[in-house]
Amino acid sequence: MPDPELHHAAIWVKLKNTQVLFDCGEGTAGQMLSNSISGEVIDAIIITHFHPDHLCGIYMVLQMLYLQQRKKKLDIFLPERVKEFNFILEYHYLFLQKFTYPVNLWIMDDITARYPEITALQTDHLTSYRDIVNGSDLRNEMKSYALMIKESDKQVLYSSDIIGTEFLEQYLPDLDLLIIDALHPQAEDILGLTNSAGTRIILNHGMSPKLEEIFRTNTISLEKARENEEIII
Ligand SMILES: [Zn+2]
Ligand SMILES: [Zn+2]
Repeated sequence: MPDPELHHAAIWVKLKNTQVLFDCGEGTAGQMLSNSISGEVIDAIIITHFHPDHLCGIYMVLQMLYLQQRKKKLDIFLPERVKEFNFILEYHYLFLQKFTYPVNLWIMDDITARYPEITALQTDHLTSYRDIVNGSDLRNEMKSYALMIKESDKQVLYSSDIIGTEFLEQYLPDLDLLIIDALHPQAEDILGLTNSAGTRIILNHGMSPKLEEIFRTNTISLEKARENEEIII
């Protein structure tokens, strides 16, 4: 749900030699300007899934980089339907051949080969659409991913949108930071993650009413995501 105080998903990740954007929700271009993130420094944009709150900002980011006369190559990793994404760019009159910078569109499976610090973990977020997709013979692949970063001895996991939290448990003990969707999973499942390992957990993507209530009335060690917050690991 749009919110006058909050922007949609977009996380800027600055590694030693690489800078990427995880997701590109509405308003990402403006937020990059507000946070003095030069478009020139971004090596890749990684879209975890094709819900609008994770994708819709990419068109203005691509246009901004063009207007800023970016020269450096940009990699874009997509969860599914890469060829069709190029049609969507054309639909928006975003012609890659007119850009000042080369754009490479990749399928998510290629992420680790190109960016060894990053691993994509497929999640269950879109599987509830199966009846619609199969019933209407649609081409949606229902792919959605969490993203893991490993660099030096540090590990961060961004869940993006998920339903179940079980898959996180195997990674949690080794994580320095977990950025988790606090809207879709059961509140109890998210709270259950706090029992382990002392990993810093940041609640992202809004919050379910039940978790909001628990958060308001109890002292718990989870942190609420804040706009423009910079976290150094
Ligand atoms: Zn979603
Ligand atoms: Zn979402």
